[in-house]
Amino acid sequence: MAGTADTLKTMDAAVIGAARARIAPLVRRTPQVPSPGLGAIAGVPVDLKLEQLQDSGAFKLRGASNLLATLPRDSLAKGVVAVSTGNHGRAVALAARRMGVRAVVCMSSLVPSNKVDAIRALGAEIRIVGRSQDEADEEARRLVAEEGMAYAAPFDDPAIIAGQGTIGLEVLEDAPDVAAVLVPLSGGGLFAGVALAIKAQRPDVKLIGISMERGAAMHASLAAGRPVAVEELPTLADSLGGGIGLSNRHSFALTRDLIDDVILLTEAEIAAGMRWLYRQEQLVAEGAAAVGAAAILAGETGRLPGRTVALVTGRNVDMDTFTRIVSAPTVEAAVQGSRIMEAA
Ligand SMILES: *Cc1c(COP(=O)(O)O)cnc(C)c1O
Repeated sequence: MAGTADTLKTMDAAVIGAARARIAPLVRRTPQVPSPGLGAIAGVPVDLKLEQLQDSGAFKLRGASNLLATLPRDSLAKGVVAVSTGNHGRAVALAARRMGVRAVVCMSSLVPSNKVDAIRALGAEIRIVGRSQDEADEEARRLVAEEGMAYAAPFDDPAIIAGQGTIGLEVLEDAPDVAAVLVPLSGGGLFAGVALAIKAQRPDVKLIGISMERGAAMHASLAAGRPVAVEELPTLADSLGGGIGLSNRHSFALTRDLIDDVILLTEAEIAAGMRWLYRQEQLVAEGAAAVGAAAILAGETGRLPGRTVALVTGRNVDMDTFTRIVSAPTVEAAVQGSRIMEAA
């Protein structure tokens, strides 16, 4: 692993083990359940790691809890600020509330009110600024610079990466013979942490990142050899949208150095994954969380080397969209009827 990120020198399995002890009282140790149906299709045993059962509805509670538990208490005196409309915002709000820390989540005025309400309901103050993510970002930076708040990055932070990596330790405990892990991939905090945790003990395990075809910033950056921006497009896997940051310091290099394969999925394939998880496994998974199942159903995983664990990462999906997708007579009808295709 020549040319590996500096992060690797300071981040190893011990850091992730310490994160696990730190966040144990704050997050769930989630179950990992076999999916005989997906196993029959894949030709190898397949397990689902149920991170959608975290109290915030997604694994991001692990990273946010670890970040807040790692920061010196006095640096949290003015509170913590995050920029997010989704699972990161929910995670920071809930972790902060549990630790008695003030949380402010900045977002633009274009964010739908149900998303705003969900984050507010978890106890965060909402700051609506401007009409773009960039303007929300500027407000967050101002709160850090002028009001002394701490900043909670969504993925590019060693404490966030270590927190997400605790999933990898649980995967190894529950499936010591794991041969491959299917990881939803966006900014790469989840991938970097899980890959570090697993490869430290089992370098032979195949780590596969999965994104949507529409606007996969990490995939484009890996192809370019440096962080690049891509146009953000509407997708069922909305939690996988957004850039990786042009001055990315940790998650890009770690992902680059640890990833064995990347799979990109169409909207129809993602819808098929959501439908399968609901109709065959009775699980409510958002689009980003269904990509592991989707990749197996699409035959995109090729020859998996053996027992495979797919990370089901979250359940925060608009219920009108979800019920339409899972109840449509066919996948084609599910995708055609969705706003995602109308926006294309
Ligand atoms: C954030 C998120 C991901 C991707 O995590 P990154 O660290 O950004 O790669 C996957 N699934 C869900 C549900 C998420 O919220």
